[in-house]
Amino acid sequence: MRAPGPGVRFLLVSIVAIAVGAAAPVPARKPDAPLKPAPDAAWAKVTTPADGPPLVMGGYTQGCIQGAIALPLDGPGYTVLRPQRLRFFGHPVLIQVVQDLGAWADANGVGTLLVGDLSQPRGGPMSYGHASHEAGLDVDIWLRLLPPGQRLSDAERRQPTAISFVRAGADMADPRLWRPAHGALVRAVAQDPRVARLFVHPAIKASLCATYPPEDTGTARWLRKVRPWYGHDSHIHIRLNCPVDSPACEPQTPPPPGAGCDVETFSWWREEIARWLAAKARRATQTAARADTRDDSATDSVTDSPQPLPQACQAILNSR
Ligand SMILES: [Zn+2]
Repeated sequence: MRAPGPGVRFLLVSIVAIAVGAAAPVPARKPDAPLKPAPDAAWAKVTTPADGPPLVMGGYTQGCIQGAIALPLDGPGYTVLRPQRLRFFGHPVLIQVVQDLGAWADANGVGTLLVGDLSQPRGGPMSYGHASHEAGLDVDIWLRLLPPGQRLSDAERRQPTAISFVRAGADMADPRLWRPAHGALVRAVAQDPRVARLFVHPAIKASLCATYPPEDTGTARWLRKVRPWYGHDSHIHIRLNCPVDSPACEPQTPPPPGAGCDVETFSWWREEIARWLAAKARRATQTAARADTRDDSATDSVTDSPQPLPQACQAILNSR
């Protein structure tokens, strides 16, 4: 790894300030901590996709999908965690992305990828654990890698142990755990044109900024898509672009230009966090609504209030 230059050191100081300041009211939540059920439990009870051609309605945080397909639970270079949750469905492009990534890991000796949540069979809100993953276009990939050839026992697969790659208060990924393969994994994901963005812990973004030269145009092109956000210390969250077959899919505003390693970018981000925290605090005092079940990966830009599901999703929920 290259020694961090002065710019990176400045950046790291900023990140520490962020972590100590704005982050304080938001304790890092275990990704799998059970949260109280939301009233949208109907979506979690559906066990089959809605028939029809693939069609995404709405957005990542308030959407649904017709014609989702299941990711096979095992394939070259990957294995699906917690299959009992039935959250391994997605748009066919998402399924292909995961399979391609597994094949990449397999071919490059990275090991076996542990695949966390995709979406429910018809997408929609989850009753616990996530606010996004609603449109069949998001997937979590754990940073914990299984050595090549190794498999989880059935019991561990049903209740796997997450490993945090960021020690409390650290400004970089844990050097005892973080390997070049992790950086290569993030890079492979971010270079995929099907991927709109991915979310990582700020300390992990800092490690990437220190490893790959952000001043390089080609590097900046993919680093731009790597968005620092709370949580995401044990997994990366991959979010795809709206597929061409789904005109009613609502894309997210693209990340701002640049690699996102400069101080200006992080100060922008810091303001976003402050606004987001203020909005969250307002919501918390006004209502005990679904805001509580929203995870930090829902968006990396502020939304003032949760949007309702598109009308068309009710038909998708009720269809055979
Ligand atoms: Zn996620």
